[in-house]
Amino acid sequence: VALAQKLGVQLTQDGYIRQDQHHRTNIPGVYSAGDVEGGYKQIVTAAGQGAGAAMTIFKDLMNPYWKKPETAP
Ligand SMILES: Cc1cc2nc3c(=O)[nH]c(=O)nc-3n(C[C@H](O)[C@H](O)[C@H](O)COP(=O)(O)OP(=O)(O)OC[C@H]3O[C@@H](n4cnc5c(N)ncnc54)[C@H](O)[C@@H]3O)c2cc1C
Repeated sequence: VALAQKLGVQLTQDGYIRQDQHHRTNIPGVYSAGDVEGGYKQIVTAAGQGAGAAMTIFKDLMNPYWKKPETAP
């Protein structure tokens, strides 16, 4: 989380990385997965979130939301 903070990533009140349920943070091109998101802290959850983040990254690279200000998170 400290590294994310240095990048300017917003945190929740509980100190976890704030993300949009598709693992996008407030910084375009920075995604989260795993324990840093809070919730269930288990290996299978972290791996699933990593896979989900990878899918989102792929979609975003195909259709970059940061080039459309009205759809930015
Ligand atoms: C003692 C213990 C027992 C557990 N037992 C189980 C279990 O039986 N089953 C289960 O499902 N879960 C278990 N867990 C939880 C599980 O380990 C975590 O949920 C899982 O590892 C989360 O994965 P992650 O990738 O989010 O984080 P991590 O596995 O913690 O990976 C984060 C990585 O980032 C690295 N890192 C941190 N900061 C930086 C930085 N600034 N620069 C570069 N690298 C950095 C760290 O060194 C680490 O390698 C256990 C946890 C603990 C502590």
